[in-house]
Amino acid sequence: MASHLRHFIDRSDSPENIAFKREFLEIGRQAGSFPSAIANRDGTPTEVSVWCSNDYLGMGQHPAVLAAARAAIDTYGVGSGGSRNIGGTNPYHVELEAELADFHGKESALLFTSGFAANDGALTVLAGNPDDTAVFSDELNHASIIDGLRRSRADKFIYRHNDMAHLEELLATAGPDRPKLIVLESVHSMAGDIAPLVEAAGLAEKYGASTFLDEVHAVGMYGPQGAGIAARDGVVDRFTVIMGTLAKAFGTVGGYIAGPAAMIDAVRMLSRAFIFTTSMPPATAAAALASVRHLRSSEVERERLARNAALLKRLLSDAEVPLVSDQSHIVSVFVGDDRKCKEASRLLIERHGIYVQPINAPSVRAGEEVLRVAPSAVHEAAEVEKFAAAVQQLWKELEIPSAPARQSPR
Ligand code: PLP
Repeated sequence: MASHLRHFIDRSDSPENIAFKREFLEIGRQAGSFPSAIANRDGTPTEVSVWCSNDYLGMGQHPAVLAAARAAIDTYGVGSGGSRNIGGTNPYHVELEAELADFHGKESALLFTSGFAANDGALTVLAGNPDDTAVFSDELNHASIIDGLRRSRADKFIYRHNDMAHLEELLATAGPDRPKLIVLESVHSMAGDIAPLVEAAGLAEKYGASTFLDEVHAVGMYGPQGAGIAARDGVVDRFTVIMGTLAKAFGTVGGYIAGPAAMIDAVRMLSRAFIFTTSMPPATAAAALASVRHLRSSEVERERLARNAALLKRLLSDAEVPLVSDQSHIVSVFVGDDRKCKEASRLLIERHGIYVQPINAPSVRAGEEVLRVAPSAVHEAAEVEKFAAAVQQLWKELEIPSAPARQSPR
């Protein structure tokens, strides 16, 4: 056998790999009755309630979104037929880009096939030009940001998570004439805490830096029309580029950047992740467009999510279950132990039909394992209560440290 193949076989059989193997639950979310889903566990279909989906507002099953996708399939078929510059630019792509630019109050927007590709593809270009750009990046930025920055080959200065004093220290060392770019997330994907955007915008202005703000876990959910945390905090005009996804609150798939036309155009011309791939299917663009338009004019979903998240955080805090942060709708509960995290997840699904995926390294640092709980707008209050009671009981049974045994939430 080829030694290259042998390497992977040996590795997959190693005791360490078996202990930490990632298991993917096969799950069929039920359109019209989500958060209910049918999970296939060892060949047995079981109904579960999903508590870790990024379809935070249930837009993946919204009638207007489904109707838009169906109509687009009837008109244009299923695939786009090509990359954006070779026959794959559908009218829905153009309309969606115009909508997203307007949504964020920016000159221009550009679609990618995922949020990952948007960060990776855009940052490779924006951090890589001009050559001597100094990039200031939060230490907990998402993998897609890290990859984009690596590919850009820019000089990186990594500041402690949400630590604006550290960011300023680093900005001050870079020299006044050097082009600078600050890259950060508004709502952190795992911790759920929120970056101090007013301070970040102030520092960017003080040191003459451009800014690239990932609002993946905020768009659709915060601020006027759901335009995100920068819009909520009244500083969206002070951020150069807003990056978002269509895959979370908007319930579909795809990513985008919105910003000054000159920057967006540079990414359109130079980004390999944008150029060398088939564009998103017209039906997806149509569905995303319907979703964005709906959420710009409806508060119902945002209010329901905020209510459910507040109730869940109150119940878990009362039960002394440690929350990583209490600032957003992402309610990560701290376990801090790989095996207990998996066990808690297993018992939740087996005993209560509750599905929460354990989050272990490398998605979080080893020793910082969490259950990343995502209440949605489509859970009922009674389900939130049932969930909190189940978690409380498991915390005792598995002897996972309670909140007083840990630091207070960020
Ligand atoms: N940015 C952040 C902060 C994320 O958490 C994610 C995905 O979870 C992405 C980017 C990538 O977005 P997408 O899932 O649309 O590829």
